[in-house]
Amino acid sequence: MKPIPDSADTLIHPGWIIPVIPENKWFIGHSLAIKENRIVAVLPRDEAAGIQAKQTLELPNHALLPGLINAHGHTAMSLLRGYADDQPLVPWLEQHIWPAEANHVSAEFVRDGAELAIAEMIRAGTTTFSDMYFFPDICAQVASDVGMRCQITFPVLDFPTVWAQHADEYIRKGLALRDDVKHNDLITVGFGPHSTYTVSQASLAKVATLAAELDIAVHIHLHETPSEVQEAITRNSERPLNSLHKLGLLGPKTQCVHMTELVDDDIALLAATGAHVIHCPQSNMKLASGGCPVAKLKKAGINVALGTDGAASNNDLNLFGEMQSAAMLAKLLSQDATVITAGEALAMATINGARALGIDEQVGSLETGKLADIIAVDLSQPETLPLYNPLSQLVYATNGSQVSHNWIDGKLVMQDRQFTGIDSGALAARIQHWQQKIGANPKDEDLCQPL
Ligand SMILES: [Zn+2]
Repeated sequence: MKPIPDSADTLIHPGWIIPVIPENKWFIGHSLAIKENRIVAVLPRDEAAGIQAKQTLELPNHALLPGLINAHGHTAMSLLRGYADDQPLVPWLEQHIWPAEANHVSAEFVRDGAELAIAEMIRAGTTTFSDMYFFPDICAQVASDVGMRCQITFPVLDFPTVWAQHADEYIRKGLALRDDVKHNDLITVGFGPHSTYTVSQASLAKVATLAAELDIAVHIHLHETPSEVQEAITRNSERPLNSLHKLGLLGPKTQCVHMTELVDDDIALLAATGAHVIHCPQSNMKLASGGCPVAKLKKAGINVALGTDGAASNNDLNLFGEMQSAAMLAKLLSQDATVITAGEALAMATINGARALGIDEQVGSLETGKLADIIAVDLSQPETLPLYNPLSQLVYATNGSQVSHNWIDGKLVMQDRQFTGIDSGALAARIQHWQQKIGANPKDEDLCQPL
């Protein structure tokens, strides 16, 4: 039994505590204590009576759960939310997104887009996100200023962009960022080679060597569509996953994003190497890319985390929607309603995300000694009544707007739905400026004409 602390900064008495570890369980009549940036006790309320707390919070209608972990996204792309929809991946990228990025991406674009994304994620209960985008130093700075935990994966590409000219420059700038933030406890930095179709094997080999030497994460879009895999077979006579394996890029620090197009040998290779899968169900469905076979991955013991992808292909950054979609898509694809439970979907958005990002000893569950990344969700509103099972309500009936409090590293970043570190009025004004600058240019026939 763990000793009960004498004092705490915050003592919370919620209706339910969903610890995630153990999975599929919840505590009623329990309390949670936070001291500095850590959870110092999860215990029955009567045993918490002796804890002297600076602040006590009664949340009888709320569930307390670990903050959600968005394991894949491109925060600055929030400025392109709704800019181009209803297209398949390749024309969507080539005809709309890449030209818009070529015209508009800058340090200021990334600063404002990242802040918009972070604001949205905090409101929907996310406490950690992973990012892959240009000017990663700017995103890291915004996250640090707001107090949000993140994994920044710096892009590696073979073609010039506004941020770097060639693969060596992307890598040099990314590793310089890693040095700059090494004392910042909220931020980790990894490699973000975009994909095997935008990064040459020679550049991927450099990433493999450096990532092994530095023992840091590699985060890559992989097997997103059938055509990506087919074209790689034509080009290299092998599947992208096999190319990565040959290059030494598959291991417990590899985060494979999407993975919709998988055969049994791919799944066996993922299991043998300990690589993680980041499943982005809504982005995959919207772009009609395919569906990640989560049930088969689970059976093979592969860790599957959840990501939203960028807001341009989702179009929100809400992991509650992603949990629901992941559970439902897994059931549909496997034609088996039992394959993913609500508790397993919540684990995908919390502890599995922490495992994929290599921070599961610190976050991802509500356990004594872990960092205090916690959210409170109000389950007393019509959307979540009646309440037979809080896990069911959280995964199948909560839309994110019921998140009332969000603590990251022991600090409240949202209290009663009010930000503590973001000026939402000023942010909205800057986003309005970008909206006018980027301009969606609706076609005349899309506009309603007065009768
Ligand atoms: Zn992506």
